[in-house]
Amino acid sequence: MSFEKIGLIKPILSAINELGYIEPTPIQDRTIGLVLAKKDIFATAQTGTGKTAAFLLPIIQRLRDAKPLSPKAVRAVIMTPTRELAIQIEAEGKKYAKYMDVSFSLLVGGKSLEAQEKQLKNGIDILIATPGRLREHIINKSIDLKFLEIFVVDEADRMLDMGFVTDIRLIHAELPKRHQTLLFSATYTDKVRKLSRLVLKKPEFIETARQNKTVDAINQIIYLVDADRKAKLLSFLIGSKNYQQVLVFTRTKKSADILVEELILDGLKAEVIHGDKTLAQRNKTLTKFKKKEIRVLVATDIASRGIDIEQLPQVINYELPSVAEDYIHRIGRTGRAGHDGEAITLLDINEKEHMKTIERLIHVKIPRVEVEGFEVDITKKAANDDIKPNRPKKTVKKAVAPKTADKKKAPTQKKRKTTKRSPR
Ligand code: AMP
Repeated sequence: MSFEKIGLIKPILSAINELGYIEPTPIQDRTIGLVLAKKDIFATAQTGTGKTAAFLLPIIQRLRDAKPLSPKAVRAVIMTPTRELAIQIEAEGKKYAKYMDVSFSLLVGGKSLEAQEKQLKNGIDILIATPGRLREHIINKSIDLKFLEIFVVDEADRMLDMGFVTDIRLIHAELPKRHQTLLFSATYTDKVRKLSRLVLKKPEFIETARQNKTVDAINQIIYLVDADRKAKLLSFLIGSKNYQQVLVFTRTKKSADILVEELILDGLKAEVIHGDKTLAQRNKTLTKFKKKEIRVLVATDIASRGIDIEQLPQVINYELPSVAEDYIHRIGRTGRAGHDGEAITLLDINEKEHMKTIERLIHVKIPRVEVEGFEVDITKKAANDDIKPNRPKKTVKKAVAPKTADKKKAPTQKKRKTTKRSPR
């Protein structure tokens, strides 16, 4: 169905047309009409499916179609797990509401409570909030949600994983009896099911992309490598394959910091975002990455939530995430909305079992290769049944010398520089 047939109004159609959206994604196709019809919704959808627009577009339209119940009302609340995601949603919402008079506001940590209190006093159409900060305002009695019309719980599974269940319950208890709730979650876990029973009334269930559907659209590959050679292999891949905008994931803040230092030493423009960076620092780094002023962005899982860079061609798992589902979130950053993407995992022997768990989750067996000059140490190889010593070796040919300043040569095993790794 087209956006017009779904029932979106002219000012929204013009805005999305300018953004180059030609037709709705499956989640948008199924969600928009139901939101306009004021139904509660339970949707399983992952990042990259167009889920943000699936709720933002009809919310903007609904708010325009009806008058606020009070001039000072907060009319819609979108709750998201992280500040970055909240910022992203606000930016997206403003683009969709370009030709309309709809106000947006952020309620996230890292900004002063007093300034936010002032904002809240004037009434807000769409408030995008993280659970912790919203709870603080409720406790301080600086927010009144009694005129709320729409409540969105975005990335519910993630929010519950981050321990926000008590906050969500407290916030939910503040909402008026009559309101519409939309719940989005990448996975359908028991915890999410339980939450849905609390917050939803006679919901419509929408299941678009099954977990492996998004994953299917992404070319995945595993490079087997020794842990202490990963940084060198990463520099080599970026240089030799001429990757220009690459997002690299580490498991810990410490390994993110160490990796960035090593990449810089290798002549690559790299920066890091993780939980120890302030919101302002993270935003600055993200902007630089989007403008391609830095070539490699190293991120931890939490900090990476909500990063939205159109057509990100490569995502690299430098270390596997602790939580298997995060693998899906990570690689969802590439191959977005119909574009091809490549997800590369640098796997060392200690991560072998965890990788198998991830493969079971996504129902995909990912091909494993070695890069010439970075083969796994033979003594470790014997202990690794993924790489049988007698198996005909599948290697990736050393790539043609790159034409960029970041040109790298594959260092040989002999020249190998041992680098200190963060404790696992
Ligand atoms: P999301 O799943 O909400 O993170 O969205 C993924 C990306 O898809 C964002 O960059 C959106 O701008 C983009 N997008 C959303 N809807 C559409 C659409 N109908 N056509 C093309 N791109 C879209």
